[in-house]
Amino acid sequence: MKISNKQLKLVDRQIKRIIESGNYYSEVYKKAGITGVSTPEDFEKIPFTDKADLRNAYPLGIQAVPDEKVVRIHSSSGTTGKPVIIPYTAKDVEDWAEMFARCYRIAGITASDRIQITPGYGLWTAGIGFQAGCEKLGAMAIPMGPGNTEKQLQMMIDLKSTVICATSSYALLLAEEINRRGLKDKICLKKGVIGSERWSDAKRNYIARELGIELFDIYGLTEIYGPGIGINCAEQTGMHVFDDYLYLEIIDPVTGEVLPDGEEGEIVITTLVKEGAPLIRFRTHDLSRIILGECSCGLSYPRIDTIKGRSDDMFKVRGVNMFPSQVEEILGMVDGVSSEYKIDVAHDDIRNRDIIMVTVEAEGRVDFTKTAETIKNLFRSRMQITPNVAVVSLNTLPRSEKKTQRVFDHRKE
Ligand code: ZN
Repeated sequence: MKISNKQLKLVDRQIKRIIESGNYYSEVYKKAGITGVSTPEDFEKIPFTDKADLRNAYPLGIQAVPDEKVVRIHSSSGTTGKPVIIPYTAKDVEDWAEMFARCYRIAGITASDRIQITPGYGLWTAGIGFQAGCEKLGAMAIPMGPGNTEKQLQMMIDLKSTVICATSSYALLLAEEINRRGLKDKICLKKGVIGSERWSDAKRNYIARELGIELFDIYGLTEIYGPGIGINCAEQTGMHVFDDYLYLEIIDPVTGEVLPDGEEGEIVITTLVKEGAPLIRFRTHDLSRIILGECSCGLSYPRIDTIKGRSDDMFKVRGVNMFPSQVEEILGMVDGVSSEYKIDVAHDDIRNRDIIMVTVEAEGRVDFTKTAETIKNLFRSRMQITPNVAVVSLNTLPRSEKKTQRVFDHRKE
């Protein structure tokens, strides 16, 4: 998607505002000799920005308006180091709610719906975004926040919630609970709006089936407003992203080269009208691709595919870029194999080549040797790499409640 003239003009205005504000990026652009943009080529010369920059500018170094214009801040939790603080003006808050209401409408949600909101409220952008969009739409918000499943189910039944907003993990937990307690006939849910992350089709199908609902992936990140900058339509052919507020690029996460439409890479977002903390070419580290062509729903907002994972999770073996999502895709094709796996990468100094070892779990009913052979062949044909494969019994690999580390790179040791 080449940047349009209209978008270019907005970026030019943003850059001039940033420079005038004297914020963190004004220094960056001054040093790089950037004063504005008038062509797509100028735009591509603007350096990328990253979460590390936002941390350097902690706490309010990226603020591009006077204090009296800031009405709220949000913060994204960093697992390491300083958090990132994003200031919002009244217009930013309004724009975000407008986009979010648009998301609900695209999902076919109306003012007569009752929306149960389970993402958290507070410093991070989730709960309050779902809430503001709901109020803008005119639907009834049921602002539950996370946890307390007992109360969630009670409200869901008594208030006849028609929409559930949740992370995929929490939606799964609710679906399992409703199934276990035999409450399916008592709930009135029709749709689920699920914060976009990488989640398996098996999980998606289970939630859709058990709750009897249609699911929509909503996209967003705190640095760029929050959730609500894009969503699936009923055609389920990718998420429409609002190009009147944002410009999207897909880049090669290693070289930084802008990729042609349709190729998979990292999403880079430019905010076109954000006032409090405008960001130009922000690297999201989310992996996706632009979906080519027009959507049959008739909306002209460009589409991106479901998030495939994070570029930070990428690892390289014998010059081939590999992502956990690709490994999961392969394992999903093999009968009797669980979703748990472990990958060890090492370097064979004598032969001077990388070695990759894949450990997977399989059910007792399948032949472990044949299963290992099948996995080897799938890797060879799909990733052009032949790993060593170890098949172990179910529940052998460690489980963790938090994100499980699956790739162990021993080459760095
Ligand atoms: Zn569509």
